[in-house]
Amino acid sequence: MKIVVATKNKNKVIELKEMLNMPNIEFYTMSDFNLDIDIVENGTTFEENAMIKAKTVYNALHDESLTVIADDSGLCVDALNGAPGIYSARYSGKGDKENNLKLLEELKDVPPLKRTGRFVCSIALVSQNTEKIFNGKCEGLIDKEERGENKFGYDPLFYYPAFSKTFGEMTHEEKNKVSHRANAVKQLKEYLNT
Ligand code: IMP
Repeated sequence: MKIVVATKNKNKVIELKEMLNMPNIEFYTMSDFNLDIDIVENGTTFEENAMIKAKTVYNALHDESLTVIADDSGLCVDALNGAPGIYSARYSGKGDKENNLKLLEELKDVPPLKRTGRFVCSIALVSQNTEKIFNGKCEGLIDKEERGENKFGYDPLFYYPAFSKTFGEMTHEEKNKVSHRANAVKQLKEYLNT
């Protein structure tokens, strides 16, 4: 089976390959097909945006033997009515550091037990006659300050109670056991195995 991941980021594919651990699948990125298209992610949910990406790439490839998958993910905070949500990457209009500072500022008057939220990941799969969505979640609390060396996105602020650590303090192995992405990939794997 050949899967094209709707990304130009090789690291995303390496991570997915490791998580799925299915040697019978060949993985490709958009770059392997010289696919340089702009995808307008104008959906209103993670699911919609993941499906827009997967369908756009599938239609551009013109090859019915290929399966395309795409993901969309972000952080939803209850005290902020689900923000930053689908706007997680561009919450502050700047980078990760500024996104985290904005989140801390927005939550400055919110007490510890009300700082609940979750990472969400939607993976869309499109192939000939098939459209599927797999959703993963990971529940946690938004910390009062950044902790940990892993600086990706909101990781330093996302406290995971079962491990008493932020995602920023976890190893990749620890995070990959419990993360929203891991939970969505687990369902994708079950589907691919059937
Ligand atoms: P993407 O869907 O992978 O592009 O992620 C969108 C944005 O959500 C990222 O830029 C991060 O701000 C945030 N995000 C998604 N997943 C994670 C995660 O595992 N850790 C930290 N931030 C994340």
